Amino acid sequence: MTYKSVKGTADILPSGLAGSSELYQAIEAISRNIFQRFNYREIRTPVIEERSLFVKAIGAETDIVTKEMFSFRDRGEREIVLRPEGTAPIVRAYLEANFHKQDAFQKFYYIGPMFRAERPQAGRMRQFHQIGAEAIGSMAPEIDAEIIVLMANLLDAMKIKGYKIRINNLGCKDDKAGLSKTLRGALAKEKSVLCDDCKKRLEINPLRVLDCKNESCRSVIRGAFKSVKFLCNKCDGHFKKVLGCLDSLGIKYELDPYIVRGLDYYTQTVFEVTHPELGSQDALGAGGRYDNLISDMGGPQLGAAGFALGVERILIVAAKQGATVYPDDKSVIYIAAMGQSAKEKAFELINSLRGIEWGKKASFDTDYEDKSLKAQMREADKLGAKFVLIIGDDEISKGEAVLRDMATKEQIAVKFSDIINALKGKLC
Ligand code: AMP
Repeated sequence: MTYKSVKGTADILPSGLAGSSELYQAIEAISRNIFQRFNYREIRTPVIEERSLFVKAIGAETDIVTKEMFSFRDRGEREIVLRPEGTAPIVRAYLEANFHKQDAFQKFYYIGPMFRAERPQAGRMRQFHQIGAEAIGSMAPEIDAEIIVLMANLLDAMKIKGYKIRINNLGCKDDKAGLSKTLRGALAKEKSVLCDDCKKRLEINPLRVLDCKNESCRSVIRGAFKSVKFLCNKCDGHFKKVLGCLDSLGIKYELDPYIVRGLDYYTQTVFEVTHPELGSQDALGAGGRYDNLISDMGGPQLGAAGFALGVERILIVAAKQGATVYPDDKSVIYIAAMGQSAKEKAFELINSLRGIEWGKKASFDTDYEDKSLKAQMREADKLGAKFVLIIGDDEISKGEAVLRDMATKEQIAVKFSDIINALKGKLC
């Protein structure tokens, strides 16, 4: 019997193809660099959490909580889930570590797997990866803007072109309640033509009707509800400031009154970033402000904002925009050895090269399969080796190796004691 990965999950294999571990590493390295520039620090929370955390934070009636969480009871009969998103665990960790009592304003980033039991399709997995940020402890509109700028900077650094940022403002708790009432009124007459989910949403949380993906619901909703002025003065001022910050930085966006986000915790600014290359699952990322979540979870009244980008979708777009988006500048040095003594020498040499400070950016490898010299040279070629050291019985007796430059095909003999210096001269 052979085994396969669980439906909706995938192995991320080392190979040059789209979705390879090298590409994940490149995306992660780019992200860490940008996060550092914005002074966001990494937070790593567990992959498992108590189910009640998400019921409380995301909302009992949301799709994630009602349909999409992988949950199980542990041996102590606790209800545990694989985390479906990053914000609730980070707020939990923030409060558990008492940041709010010492140093309330914190900027975090995270990179890691999330789990949702959705129907798998292109761009929709059951285990996927998110890169996200959360700025906790500030009501400043500059933070909403910074979060959006940070997200745009990440996509730019990943060389993603043609993405679209759409922004809306849901207002404060009272504004959201007012908007819900307006929507319930505006859609009451149309209820019979809405999908079953929307019929329920209209009762429980009418805002969620706005982001129904069902085409017929969308056209009914767009007919019945055009943007209405529902923001209080404070929220209106906040939103204008956010947009002013984005304008001053030349960040392009569209206002979209239909963006509400599927999670209940959002207030004020909400946004989505989409890409036309993605087809039906066109969201690359999303986020917004969540000024009530920290207090809802037992902490003080603190403002916060964040976003999450989906790594798999970034890689889909990157692959469509050209496979060479993340150039690999790593140098590979391969030792081809023939004969027992040469192999012993190669093993010793490769391990001393691996320890050299200036060699930290290079990769060193040799043959472990008793391949012929020709096959070893083919392997070196496949690895993209810049240089190959060739050692046979002849070389062992002379105390030297042949150093071959794979680009120019030039070969020189180098004494074993000079190999490190010779490579240093060529690589540094
Ligand atoms: P959300 O937390 O739903 O706002 O998701 C943020 C981003 O994560 C989305 O824009 C997608 O890029 C990505 N994402 C969400 N769900 C999935 C999924 N099931 N498979 C792959 N990527 C996903």
